[in-house]
Amino acid sequence: MSDWPEDATVQRFSDATSSEGVMVFAEMVDGHLLNVGRELMGPGREMADHLGVTLSAILIHHSVGDAPQDLISLGADKVIVVEDARLEHYTTLPYARALSDYLTNVHRPEILLMGATTTGRDLAPRVASRVDAGVTADCTKLSVGPFYHRKTKSVTTHMLEAHRPSFGESKLACIMSNPEQLWAPAMATARPGIFVAPASDSSRTGDVEAFSPDWQDGDFSVEVMDVRRGGGERVDLGHCKIVVAGGIPCGQTGFREIHDLVDALKAQGLDAEWGASRAAVDAGHAPSTRQIGQTGQSIRPPVYIAVAISGAPQHTAGMKDSERIVAVNTDESCTMVQSADAAIIGDYREVVPQLTEKVKSGFTFGL
Ligand SMILES: Cc1cc2nc3c(=O)[nH]c(=O)nc-3n(C[C@H](O)[C@H](O)[C@H](O)COP(=O)(O)OP(=O)(O)OC[C@H]3O[C@@H](n4cnc5c(N)ncnc54)[C@H](O)[C@@H]3O)c2cc1C
Repeated sequence: MSDWPEDATVQRFSDATSSEGVMVFAEMVDGHLLNVGRELMGPGREMADHLGVTLSAILIHHSVGDAPQDLISLGADKVIVVEDARLEHYTTLPYARALSDYLTNVHRPEILLMGATTTGRDLAPRVASRVDAGVTADCTKLSVGPFYHRKTKSVTTHMLEAHRPSFGESKLACIMSNPEQLWAPAMATARPGIFVAPASDSSRTGDVEAFSPDWQDGDFSVEVMDVRRGGGERVDLGHCKIVVAGGIPCGQTGFREIHDLVDALKAQGLDAEWGASRAAVDAGHAPSTRQIGQTGQSIRPPVYIAVAISGAPQHTAGMKDSERIVAVNTDESCTMVQSADAAIIGDYREVVPQLTEKVKSGFTFGL
């Protein structure tokens, strides 16, 4: 039974917007496909199957190498390749030209997904404004469903439901196209680590199609002279087996103890790294590149150790999907302890060095 009256007019989003299919912009940096592109193939494939349409991926880079086959193995039916020597480093204008030209002149998908990376956050609104579409940023769940517009008594089916936290994570908003003014593609971005990349199947086959945009004077007016990735480079915590994060009480001394624990875990052969809460970052105890949470990285490691972190919703947004959470805290009533799988109630200054000694003698948190 449907949730709308029998006399409501019903239309499908793709019919109303003359669009079809799901597309993922798969970002590449220095010749490598970013993981967020792989991760978006998961919801992309699921929605394409649900809609009964194809899933495509678009690559824009100076040299794409094996990335098309990689994306096909992850679920793409088709990969569009825009290759040009001048696309080695991301700049807004040529990337926006390539993508908007394809959407305008070749094929307009009903849904377009991008990673909420620095590039994705710059490119998505630029492309959306060129093709008259809308973007929902930082989504944590993507699905497809109908919308009943009570005022016009009309139903639009098969629309993108872009879910994202709002009001400081206290609400989950479901954002859909304006049913009175439907625009395609419905665009959404998701931060790295939110979705899990599907299993790769090297026996899958798909089409690879080259596309040459109609470059305009001025598209390459910005020339990248040099790229220097220094100490501010983002540390990818998303693929570590164990992450030890420190909160504001840790201070410089506490973080040194956390580093010692991570070094001991690494010496046991574990892929371990350290992170921080935003309060610790704001206090200058850790660089923002290691921040975990709503405005930092989203991770889901097999083991997450929260040292003196209270468990504010903006922090847990980035680590709540960890397989096992261990809390070290003096306050047994705090949210982190209450939601942890295991908790050590005590001062981190005593607990962390003891954990380091235990790890040195072979303890690996069950990993
Ligand atoms: C828009 C917005 C976005 C945000 N984004 C993020 C984000 O991405 N990531 C993030 O982390 N935060 C984010 N925040 C901030 C967030 O709301 C919290 O302020 C922050 O997470 C708190 O950090 P904390 O747990 O280190 O500090 P606190 O909340 O102060 O907690 C410190 C904890 O340490 C314990 N403690 C104290 N002394 C000791 C000791 N000696 N030994 C053991 N335990 C001890 C205390 O019991 C307490 O539980 C955001 C806030 C806003 C408004």
